[in-house]
Amino acid sequence: MKKFLVWLLAICLMFGAVGLGSPLAEAIAADGTYEGSADGMMGDVPVTVVVSGGEITEITIGEHNESPGISDAAIEGIPAAIIEAQSVDVDDVAGATVTSEAIKEAVAAALSGAASAQEASFLDSLAIEPDVIVVGAGMAGLVSAVKTAELGANVLVLEQNFRPGGSVLFAGGSISGTGFKIQKEAGIEDSPEQFYADFVRLSGGEDFNVAVAKKHTERSGEAIDWLMDEVGVDFGDEYRLDTGSYEPMYPDRVTYALAMSPSGGGLGYLDALLPKLEEYIEQGNAQLILNTEVTDVIVEDGNIVGVMVGEDEVRAPSTIIATGGYGYSEEWLLEYNFTQVTSMEPPTATGSGYNFARKAGAAFDKMEYCACYAGAIPVSGFQATLTANTAYPGAILVNKAGERILNESTATTKDKSLAYTEAEDNLVYVVLSESMMTDDVNLINGAMGAGAVDSQAKFDELLEEGKWIFKADTIEELAAAIGAGNLGATIEKYNEDAAAGSDSVFGRTENLVAFEDGPFYAIYTVPYVLMTQGGPRINDEAQLVREDGTVVGGAYLAGEIIGSANVAGDTTIGGIGHGLCATWGIIAAENAVANAGK
Ligand SMILES: Cc1cc2nc3c(=O)[nH]c(=O)nc-3n(C[C@H](O)[C@H](O)[C@H](O)COP(=O)(O)OP(=O)(O)OC[C@H]3O[C@@H](n4cnc5c(N)ncnc54)[C@H](O)[C@@H]3O)c2cc1C
Repeated sequence: MKKFLVWLLAICLMFGAVGLGSPLAEAIAADGTYEGSADGMMGDVPVTVVVSGGEITEITIGEHNESPGISDAAIEGIPAAIIEAQSVDVDDVAGATVTSEAIKEAVAAALSGAASAQEASFLDSLAIEPDVIVVGAGMAGLVSAVKTAELGANVLVLEQNFRPGGSVLFAGGSISGTGFKIQKEAGIEDSPEQFYADFVRLSGGEDFNVAVAKKHTERSGEAIDWLMDEVGVDFGDEYRLDTGSYEPMYPDRVTYALAMSPSGGGLGYLDALLPKLEEYIEQGNAQLILNTEVTDVIVEDGNIVGVMVGEDEVRAPSTIIATGGYGYSEEWLLEYNFTQVTSMEPPTATGSGYNFARKAGAAFDKMEYCACYAGAIPVSGFQATLTANTAYPGAILVNKAGERILNESTATTKDKSLAYTEAEDNLVYVVLSESMMTDDVNLINGAMGAGAVDSQAKFDELLEEGKWIFKADTIEELAAAIGAGNLGATIEKYNEDAAAGSDSVFGRTENLVAFEDGPFYAIYTVPYVLMTQGGPRINDEAQLVREDGTVVGGAYLAGEIIGSANVAGDTTIGGIGHGLCATWGIIAAENAVANAGK
């Protein structure tokens, strides 16, 4: 019974999380004091929640390391808002999203008794005999689950977090494909062959999984139609359709959930997928259990035959691994991609599915590809909280040796990604002189989710700290301070070029200003990631594959874990993330259901 209440509460929270109603108080079982915690921006945020008279009456936040100034409004405002609403479905405090989310998650975890649920057997809460287990309730897991149930099989979805959604809770709404209705209605002629040709053109060859890429182009259009017609995703009253903002494809094949929404379009997918899944839950052939981490997969005779939740095992003919990328796993990022890196991915992107695939003996492809973004100042370790403006007027970007790495004013996101990846220790200094500094442009910014910062105040604070911003009266002294032996020669050449009006090294024309009078500054920056691009190998039926080409029976992959570089190569095309969730969620479900004999 207790487990059932945990599950019931989880479902209520699930709807609360996406604004579908169902007040939290309805599911609160008993008066008492509950404790929970969740990852904030700077580590654990513990809460104590008092329930009295069937209502949440008090929320106290324990000792934490959230940044003073940035997190204060959330620490004060979110508990009050939850008590007022009797629900965790309250708006985040602008500028303190991560702390707001952590408090909500901690309260939800406290009330759901997550800790005690983990200690006891979760098997008591199982209400169905699954044909298919889906690990992870991000967009890919939800698509897989809905499709599995639609095809008449029983599906059990296990999600480690207190709510479903994963990255799509924070994402934009773009999705790409070819031959979908919105595109046809716009009179655009397109084909899988043209989509494929764009993969080749943009990534510079066919250096990806050709069979998987071709299947993606063939099935991507119908996946978008399915989301719209069968699931009910709202693509807006007026469709948005374009070539994609990262690297344009031709013709237009990127469209948007909640079309005109300036941000947060990713919620458009959740708003439709969750009620659809709930229909199948009510019919009795689907179950979603939150706060439940799959800790391992059961491998027998080379096949995945089920999963472990702590000491408990649950078996099914098919398992779909939809655990997302590894962008919040420093361990995997250091193993494959960087020597220094930070992350702006949600903490749910733990990369656990990569461990499962490794255990099952799968091959891995394109793990060396990982698009990154420029300019994180690693003041908070792995969690990115601050960035330096790498396109600051006049500033140059130099590597550890003090050599420029690109044309600072025209470099694209992809150029910077490459330059940071190739820089020794992934370390790049933003170098500028005081005379270049202006109040009109922020030099220091808060990372996504960390909120806005006072650029000048943060600059002064970091300068004072003496660890991330270095100051010197001469270039020679600055070079010595950061140990960049070639900085003097670099600036000398740069100044000559600026005087001649022509950058002989990288062809920079904008803000080509000489470094004349000091003081001079160097800001220590490293890359940050938002999505990973490599993954375990699959075939065009979404089955997990070993190096020798044999298949790991019973195992299917969907979503970001497949790795966009395996599908579209070393490129970043708009809507590929959600495209992988929709297209491969469907393909994985179809084959998992067939494997289960349904
Ligand atoms: C800020 C941001 C903006 C973005 N904008 C766009 C965009 O506009 N367009 C686009 O196409 N893409 C975008 N993306 C990328 C896209 O949102 C993601 O690639 C996609 O949502 C990934 O979905 P997923 O289901 O594969 O994985 P995830 O969303 O990571 O979901 C995986 C789920 O599995 C759970 N899980 C993991 N391990 C376990 C375990 N062991 N046991 C149980 N559960 C587990 C996690 O908690 C999580 O809920 C964006 C990403 C970010 C971060």
